[in-house]
Amino acid sequence: MTMVDRQEWDVVVVGAGGAGLRAAIEARERGARTAVICKSLFGKAHTVMAEGGIAAAMGNVNAGDNWQVHFRDTMRGGKFLNQWRMAELHAQEAPQRVWELETWGALFDRTKDGRISQRNFGGHEYPRLAHVGDRTGLELIRTLQQKIVALQQEDFRETGDYEARLKVFQECTVTRVLKDGERVSGVFGYERESGRFFVLEAPAVVIATGGIGKSFKVTSNSWEYTGDGHALALLAGAPLLNMEFVQFHPTGMVWPPSVKGILVTESVRGDGGVLRDSGGRRFMFDYVPDVFKDKYAESEEEADRWYEDPDHNRRPPELLPRDEVARAINAEVKAGRGSPHGGVFLDVSTRMPAEVIKRRLPSMYHQFKELADVDITAEPMEVGPTCHYVMGGIAVDSDSAAARGVPGLFAAGEVAGGMHGSNRLGGNSLSDLLVFGRRAGWHAAEYASGRAAARPRVDDAQIDAAAAEALRPFSAESGEPAEGPPENPYTLHQELQQTMNDLVGIIRREPEMKQALEKLGELRVRARRAGVEGHRQFNPGWHLALDLRNMLLVSECVARAALERTESRGGHTREDHAAMDRAWRNVNLLCALTDPTGGLAATDPVRGQITLARETTEPIRPDLLALFEKEELVKYLAEEELYE
Ligand code: FAD
Repeated sequence: MTMVDRQEWDVVVVGAGGAGLRAAIEARERGARTAVICKSLFGKAHTVMAEGGIAAAMGNVNAGDNWQVHFRDTMRGGKFLNQWRMAELHAQEAPQRVWELETWGALFDRTKDGRISQRNFGGHEYPRLAHVGDRTGLELIRTLQQKIVALQQEDFRETGDYEARLKVFQECTVTRVLKDGERVSGVFGYERESGRFFVLEAPAVVIATGGIGKSFKVTSNSWEYTGDGHALALLAGAPLLNMEFVQFHPTGMVWPPSVKGILVTESVRGDGGVLRDSGGRRFMFDYVPDVFKDKYAESEEEADRWYEDPDHNRRPPELLPRDEVARAINAEVKAGRGSPHGGVFLDVSTRMPAEVIKRRLPSMYHQFKELADVDITAEPMEVGPTCHYVMGGIAVDSDSAAARGVPGLFAAGEVAGGMHGSNRLGGNSLSDLLVFGRRAGWHAAEYASGRAAARPRVDDAQIDAAAAEALRPFSAESGEPAEGPPENPYTLHQELQQTMNDLVGIIRREPEMKQALEKLGELRVRARRAGVEGHRQFNPGWHLALDLRNMLLVSECVARAALERTESRGGHTREDHAAMDRAWRNVNLLCALTDPTGGLAATDPVRGQITLARETTEPIRPDLLALFEKEELVKYLAEEELYE
């Protein structure tokens, strides 16, 4: 039997980004003893990098805004594939979550009359993003951390122990969710520094691990985004929803190569920045799709007037949803009108005085100055699409955030699917984290308290199997020589990233996706031989070897679902099926593990390890449909849905 540290908690939250921290606060406030685990340092979650702001219909800058308009924008952005109940709850609850942050100490930028200021962003009809310059995520995490410390101080006063009811385990990676029969019984993981294994026993586990960007070569995501939570859920028996929808943010840095993919926030365009081709032309006017024609300006003059008088002019096309802008940039570069390093130009220097740029976009100013030696107050930036966000994720119940099919498992934040449909609007992630992080914590605590008397049993055999799986990279050289020589995890990772970038990237074609699936099959077999040297104390090669399992699982889900969906919608663009097809509007694609025992060894290198199923989405509630004009619905909804 493997010797591991074991502790008992009521709720374990995997991930300490915005979703994880908000879940942990809620669970603890509802009386659950709550542990939070994070792979990186506490405070260094991806949420910290969020720049533009939190979308919430507070109506501070334009009183016309309300939750119904926000709901409409979110559904339009997601091309009506959103889990509509999530979009409804999100739009209704986001303002409360922002005000709550303020009561916990967040310092947002203000309007002239002292209210929380809100900025424009792509796809949002009104200025809606509450922000702190372009460092909103940092303030959000700082505030949530501060709240956690306050709760720990409260616990200390009562119990003499700061961590009696809320404890953070930092630099610890979870590799398996443990189960007692069908239901969750805890998690297995290792400490990154010492390599020691641990088990946290708990009836309820909230997964809040963020995204999958590190499966792609050009990405705005940092090293932790290896799809761990998606894979943990799959391995525990929970399906993933609509994994074909991956958002390529239109504006990542393209030069120098060392910084390729780093994000250039959408606030640059929200605050007046414009996109130009190599000849200086504002090309976005050529790319306004029919479904958006009546909402976007037809001329530069009208677009520019909108910044001063939004009630009597239409929006600039630079503020179309991200999928549209990313495709437009891709098309311009392909047509030979790109910038010297394969992007296009994003210009604020001719649109705002230097001091305004430095005040409103301080991080962008420093990012370009320090990383590319470009002064954005004097010259344009070069930008191009970068893999940014995954709309697909763990299939959850809209109200409770419970993962489908596994009692005791919950999911919130980027790792959960459904909320954003086929494409997320900027700013809607931070509000999603707060709204559904809270809901996940609340329902996990409720679920755990209902089972206090009969805690699930942790099975020693599962701990042994999880430990053996984690140790496998150390024995790759001696084990199973018939399979071939050991493989370098870094080489495997590079090949995976290149495959996903080139064959399942922003524009997809059937033969290429089939080729990707073949390559993934080959990589999967080779990844079983991923070998590392040395020992378990802080060994990044070993960590990557373990992360590979997750990235390969998730990449196969993306490729299989992308091949299956023969239409283009949101973050899924098929060159061979270029139009959005109304017949696909109500179809969800669910990925599940082919081997339901969660073992990966038996999977077929050709057929793969993922089984795909179609399901019909729940019809959108009539009072929500009534928020749209009939002519608009005709563009999205299938014939029978309109009839109903
Ligand atoms: P994260 O914040 O990524 O947290 C994930 C946590 O899980 C981390 O603590 C990580 O260590 C932990 N973890 C992962 N795997 C494991 C494991 N196996 N075991 C233990 N712990 C694990 N959205 C907006 O709405 N507005 C914006 O302005 C905005 N700007 C952005 C700018 C950038 C550069 C980027 C990259 C994204 C931006 N986004 C923005 C998107 C948004 O920031 C993310 O979608 C969101 O922060 C995800 O939050 P999360 O809580 O789901 O995950």
